[in-house]
Amino acid sequence: MTIAICPGSFDPVTNGHIDIFERASKMFDEVIVGVFNNINKKPLFTVEERVALLKQATSHIPNVKVDCFAGLLADYAHQKNAHVIVRGLRDANDFLYEFPRAMLIKNMAPDIENIFLTTDNKYYHVSSSAIRELAQFGGDITHLVPHCVELAIHEKIKRVPTSK
Ligand code: ADP
Repeated sequence: MTIAICPGSFDPVTNGHIDIFERASKMFDEVIVGVFNNINKKPLFTVEERVALLKQATSHIPNVKVDCFAGLLADYAHQKNAHVIVRGLRDANDFLYEFPRAMLIKNMAPDIENIFLTTDNKYYHVSSSAIRELAQFGGDITHLVPHCVELAIHEKIKRVPTSK
């Protein structure tokens, strides 16, 4: 049985992430979406909120589990008996960010493979930070995030009034 981990902040989860989970779920027996509890970042959604939103948004994919972790990803992967880490790539910037991290993990844990899935071109421009910004300024995010996220973000973010 091959277990893969899709790690990330998911603050919040977008349709770009969901597309990666759906595709990974066809490649591996089990996919664990691991929400990274990064103490150095001040997120919009708490870890518990992000996990709850991810559970709702992935309920249609039977072999996806949602969990959270802190500390080293390689240690977490070993703890979960996962030998694959899946990351999504949108562009060269993502690659430059992800590649050295994958090398670090490879050095620490040679038994773990790092796999990159290229984004679907529908989601090339979608990031969690863009979603937070769009929501704040009243932009339409309907086709960019799961419905539960759209509701939650409108609850959470007070819209910035536009000046006349
Ligand atoms: P981070 O791990 O930097 O906090 P995110 O939580 O935003 O990043 O994303 C988690 C993973 O999903 C990363 O591998 C990121 O490159 C990937 N990803 C983010 N947005 C998209 C998208 N629109 N399409 C494909 N992959 C994406």
